[in-house]
Amino acid sequence: ASAGELAVARGAGADMLNALYTAGLVQSGAVRPAARGVRSWPGGTLLPHALGLTGPITAAQWPAAKARGLAMDAVIGQSGLEAAYDDLLRGQDGRVRINTGFDGAVRRTAQLRQAVPGAALVLTVDSSLQKALQDALISQIHTLQTTKAAGAGRECRAGAAVVVDVKTGGILAAASVPGFDLNTCRADYAALAADTAAPLLDRTAQGLYAPGSAFKPAVAAAALTAGIDPAATVNCTGRYGFYNGYQPGCLQYGHSGLVDLCTALEHSCNIFFYDVGRRLGVDTFSAMAQQLGLAAPTGVEVAEARGRLTWSSDGNYQAGLTLMAAIGQGNTAVTPLQLAAYAATLANYGQRPALHYADRAVSAATGETLWQYTPTFTAVQGGEAVFGPIRDGMKRMAQTTRVLREAPVVCAAKTGSPQLADTLPGGSHYVNSVLIGYAPADDPQIAVAVVLEYGGGGANAAPILRAVLDAVFGI
Ligand SMILES: [Zn+2]
Repeated sequence: ASAGELAVARGAGADMLNALYTAGLVQSGAVRPAARGVRSWPGGTLLPHALGLTGPITAAQWPAAKARGLAMDAVIGQSGLEAAYDDLLRGQDGRVRINTGFDGAVRRTAQLRQAVPGAALVLTVDSSLQKALQDALISQIHTLQTTKAAGAGRECRAGAAVVVDVKTGGILAAASVPGFDLNTCRADYAALAADTAAPLLDRTAQGLYAPGSAFKPAVAAAALTAGIDPAATVNCTGRYGFYNGYQPGCLQYGHSGLVDLCTALEHSCNIFFYDVGRRLGVDTFSAMAQQLGLAAPTGVEVAEARGRLTWSSDGNYQAGLTLMAAIGQGNTAVTPLQLAAYAATLANYGQRPALHYADRAVSAATGETLWQYTPTFTAVQGGEAVFGPIRDGMKRMAQTTRVLREAPVVCAAKTGSPQLADTLPGGSHYVNSVLIGYAPADDPQIAVAVVLEYGGGGANAAPILRAVLDAVFGI
């Protein structure tokens, strides 16, 4: 390869190659034929963001590619898993020397180096569950658009959901809607890039969302770790009167009066978490949230946003921000992958799994396993004393929601309805739908996170969890 090289034709067949030889263009060095693999995707709309794309080496990438021994016209992984596992997937180019006569006829060929095919990467993703999850998101977004009132889900256009294996951290499905088709995305690139619904954005890894009340289990974990008695109560009067100026409220669904921790999780009492959050301090419960996986790297192999929590050192900090952060708002914003890691940690009594897409690499020639992912966990202390009451509260919460109560397996869940800055004509705020959950509630195998942008409240995310439970545990 030389700096003056330019691709003049792709997909050249034997006829064209013979013509190039006959014309003497190959012998003179004017044209250099090169074999390059071409990707095709039988399921191009499944997991397109995480799989990623390959492409020619860019000028900025050339020094590193050259050091790896790659040809200047080599195609390398440019995004997603294609980039993360390029070394495994690439294999090695072969080399052949061809001697030709004056007439261009081939006299002798010599194999200088055998080509080595790249390994096959086996993912943890279950393709049928991936399809079921994408279909469930698309279907629910359509239902909300066509059946809900303004501000109650009608404006929903996008969402993301993640399913992980709580025992290994393997990602079983990760859907970002709207998406695209890997087979046509190069041709469609201008339209995809200009689409205001941002189909090229991997919302599972890059979307940042306030968790809303789905954050409350993190505050509960900080409270129980600090030694707060799970039977201790807070009096919910519908309004938090501790501060004179700022008195946020509670909708009091299914509760009022003295509320303990499990009941506060079951019915999402804001007053309980305002009070407990204020007593703990924002830095204490944000630190716990980070340990549980929020605004922390998940371990996933694709590029992910870091996210953020709310801290007393934040530039906009004032006392009211602690109350907002205690119900998962304030400055707090996290990714759906982080929410799934958090849900898995709650399910695992504090054992937080590193998330990953790849399970193993297999030799394309022999089928032999060349590499195997080893699950890793980070422990959050507390065990049954901390995570038992939270699991009880989340199990009870799921029972308050009909679509979850009627699922083929008993699950645990927590919803969130975080407010967006955007307001309706009347002045009330649009809300997202957020949900974390896991199942079976008493012997968790999978953890789930769902976000629907402009979804109209956490309950609207419950049918997505239900679709996952039907797909995994249904008969
Ligand atoms: Zn309340």
